[in-house]
This record gives sequence, structure tokens and C-alpha cells, in this order.
Amino acid sequence: MGASEADAVRQWEPKSDTVAKQFFRQLVETPRPSGYEQSAQEHVRRYAADWADQITTDVHGNVVCCRRGTGAGRLMLAGHCDQIGMLVSHIDDNGFLYFQPIGGWDSQQLIGQHVTVWGNSGAVAGVIARKPIHLLRPEERDKAPKLEDLWVDIGAKDRAEAEQCVRIGDPITLYLELRPLRNELLCGPGMDNASGVWVVLEALRRVKSPLCWSVFAVSTVQEEIGLRGAQTSAFGVDPQVAIAVDVTHATDSPGMDKNSLGRIRVGAGPVIFRGPNMNPRVVDRLLDCCRQADIPFQLAASGRAMPNDANPLQVTRAGVATGLVSIPNRYMHSAVEIVSWRDLDAAAELLARFAESLAEGDSFIP
Ligand SMILES: [Zn+2]
Repeated sequence: MGASEADAVRQWEPKSDTVAKQFFRQLVETPRPSGYEQSAQEHVRRYAADWADQITTDVHGNVVCCRRGTGAGRLMLAGHCDQIGMLVSHIDDNGFLYFQPIGGWDSQQLIGQHVTVWGNSGAVAGVIARKPIHLLRPEERDKAPKLEDLWVDIGAKDRAEAEQCVRIGDPITLYLELRPLRNELLCGPGMDNASGVWVVLEALRRVKSPLCWSVFAVSTVQEEIGLRGAQTSAFGVDPQVAIAVDVTHATDSPGMDKNSLGRIRVGAGPVIFRGPNMNPRVVDRLLDCCRQADIPFQLAASGRAMPNDANPLQVTRAGVATGLVSIPNRYMHSAVEIVSWRDLDAAAELLARFAESLAEGDSFIP
């Protein structure tokens, strides 16, 4: 895309208002490990209440926010609201908590982190650590610790005291805080996938009536443990076209493999994926919308079923024309994931324009 891409990036001015920005912070700072998403879903329901025609929650916990169109077409926009986390599996006699992971963790990312245990009676502060470097044997220094060898210290003096505020099965997250960095970058845990939820809801908020196709923005659950909420919610919504919104690896930090992942930069626009998991007509329509509205974009390729909601969406019922719009993300599945406000905003604009472009009789059969 060369010079025109650079121009588009420079010209893109985020359109989101303070309310939309506050909603993003609220999502990032609310715990939502897979299976424990409902406090975040409550924020989603309240946020959409003012402008959605209908809001429903299914038995799996997915929240479906709809704006009705005049025709029979149904477009589903899916962002998974769950984040990776942990859950308490054992409390030892000294009051230390052991845990199982929820989703994919790099154990080295957890050492030295502040965490919160979300107990019944409220949030309990804790830390994950290990013995000091002075005391590590040479073989311990060279080896990554296993997740099952890590523990959470909440400061309890023994098991009885820990059990007053923590139960087996309570979820644990990293300390949740959104910190702005330079150049409209945002940093914190769980950008994967507060980003996607925010984008699909902001798109739904921006679409202008009258719509031909009904639009369903879905905050899906349990993506991080097997793409599960998209399966159940897509069956329920029964869309003809569905677009998943998730984060993808940016390759603009050291050590990333551009040859296979492409040149993906944070702040250079949402990423439109091509490959067998993506319907070619949906891809073309997304690209047309970007060109018509001067929305910056980046292209990426994947030759496999995507490891995100785009996969179950495509193979729901008799098949759904699926697209994937991704937000470039540095340091995925860590305490310091980075995304750009500009990319989030431009992705919401793209999906709003896409929804408005759908007309009676549009076919996505390739
Ligand atoms: Zn994700």
C-alpha cells in the first residue's frame, strides 16, 4: 500500500467520545477469566441499553445486542470478552494458594506480578513470586518454572485465615489497570480481548438507521478455552455473515517473524485477514469499505483455521460467510499487552460502514 497507507494512518482521527473511552477502561479493569465473565457482561448490557433495540443473554453467558434492520439479513459481530486467568485449586497449610491456569500462560510472565483473587466477599490482593535470585541454584536459573510450581501469596498467616476470604474455584486475574503510553497506545492485561468487545459494541453504536440487515454485536464467552461461546451464540443468532474481532500479533517489536506473520504495526490500522477461514466476498467488502471511508488497514494471511472465534463462526449450522478483523497487539497474554486507540477506533468505523453497506439480496456465496 506504500505511501497511501502512510497517509491514511496520519489522517485517521479517532471519533470515539469520552463515554466510549470510559467503557474501554471499564472492560479492561473488570475481571473476566473464561467462565467468570458476568461482571463484564453486566457492563456490556448497561452500556448498550441506551441504543440497542434488544439485549439478550443466553444460558452460556454470551450477551447479544441487536439493532434491527428492515430486511431478513443477519450480520453477527463477535468479540470475545473473556481473558486468560487462573483459578484457585488448593490452599496449603501455610495459607498459600495454588492454581490452575485458565487459558494459555507463559509461566515466566507470571513471576513478580500483582494479582487479584475474586472471592465471594470481595477482591483479595496477592502476588506471584519465587525465591530470590541469590538463592536460585544454577540449574534453577536456566530453567523456566512450571505453572504448577507457582503460588499466590495473599499475606494470610495460615490456611484457616485464607479460607475466610478465598474458596476453591475462585478466579484470579493479574492486577487490572489500563495505562496510556505515548502515541495513543494503551497498555494493560486483557487487551485480548477487551479490544474486540469494545469494537463490536462501538460499531453497533455508530451504525446509522435505517439498516437493511439486522446487526447483532455479541460479547462471546470462553474463547480462551476452546472458542466455545462463539459456537453457542452463532447457533442462536443464525447469521448469514459473521465477523470476528480479536487481537493479532504485531510484528513491530524485536524478534517477531515478519516472513510468516507479515509486517503488522501497532497504530497502522485494523488487520483484515485472508485465507481459507475467511469468505473472499466478505474480505472484498471489508476492503471496499476501507477505501470508500479512507480507513487505514493492513492485510495478513493465514492458511489454517484461525485460533479464534472466526473458526467456529464459519462452520456453524450450514456455514456462515466469515470475516476476521484484528487489532495489532504487542506482548499478547502478558500483563503489558499494548494496542493502539487509533486501531480500535478505525476497526469500529470499518464494521459500522460494513453493516450499513449490506443490502437486500446481497449474496456471499463464493
Ligand atoms: Zn483473543
